[in-house]
Amino acid sequence: AKDEGKNTFRMFSEELNRSSHERIQLVHALQHAMEKNELSLHYQPKISNGDGRIIGVEALLRWNSEELGAVTPDRFIPLAEESRLIMPIGEWVLRTACRQQVAWREQGLDLCLAVNISAVQLKSPHLIETVQAIIEETGIVPEQLELELTESSLVDKPEEVTRILERLRGLKCNIAIDDFGVGYSSLSYLKNFPVTVLKIDRSFVKDLSHNSSDRAIAQSVVDLANNLNMVTVAEGVEHPDQQRILEEIGCSYVQGYLHCRPVPPEQIPGIVRERNGA
Ligand code: C2E
Ligand code: CA
Ligand code: CA
Ligand code: CA
Repeated sequence: AKDEGKNTFRMFSEELNRSSHERIQLVHALQHAMEKNELSLHYQPKISNGDGRIIGVEALLRWNSEELGAVTPDRFIPLAEESRLIMPIGEWVLRTACRQQVAWREQGLDLCLAVNISAVQLKSPHLIETVQAIIEETGIVPEQLELELTESSLVDKPEEVTRILERLRGLKCNIAIDDFGVGYSSLSYLKNFPVTVLKIDRSFVKDLSHNSSDRAIAQSVVDLANNLNMVTVAEGVEHPDQQRILEEIGCSYVQGYLHCRPVPPEQIPGIVRERNGA
């Protein structure tokens, strides 16, 4: 029994070592990902429930590593945050996506652009300047830019966060709370945040058609948003049943595989023109 314990311990520490080795390897590869052109953005359409038209896209980061192959954001974003590599990467994402949105506009496509902003970026004193500089440099209409902040990144220092959000709103861009409902936001803070969009987390959308409490939660989020003059976006819509219920409860916009997966930028004009009509 004693030996077993030792073995278990050895296995456990090997497991730990392997995972920390993997993390170091990943961070190392990520350090060079930008200069090696391994990062790219995919874009997922956002659809209006009113008329079924595509009104915008969300930029989603992709990493195709020479060394490690395709690495999903759920694996590398947390490491990018810990190592603060998310600072240059996040800036690259914002600049690249804004340039793309302007290029689409010049081709006659009028799309809102949502970009994910990490809690680490939000806490940096440079975020406002960076966003302002990129708006000026790219010429994006700031009203067409939406910054998605996760609920969990807002709860930490709500007074400080409120001031940052107000300055971002001063630049005229929109602010969305991403993954709404899974975090810890107190409704009293929500009232003070100058937020324009609530994104209903996929976990509530998932069981919408057979779980009556998820439906009640989704309905409450929509009602709350309406009362606070915000719009709602549901994410992760995969089934027509979910879509129907979201329409019934008055959710404004939807994203999900049912409508479109995230795709490389070249595919967007064709998809938008097909769906919205010339
Ligand atoms: P998120 O912002 O909540 O993005 C939605 C995720 O759900 C995306 O995963 C998207 O591909 C996926 N998705 C969309 N529709 C469906 C659906 O119908 N069903 C299912 N099962 N999934 C769907 P992705 O691209 O793997 O990104 C994961 C997370 O990584 C994002 O979650 C976001 O938190 C983070 N992320 C991605 N790109 C960036 C970025 O540029 N910056 C930062 N800071 N975070 C990013
Ligand atoms: Ca998002
Ligand atoms: Ca989300
Ligand atoms: Ca999410």
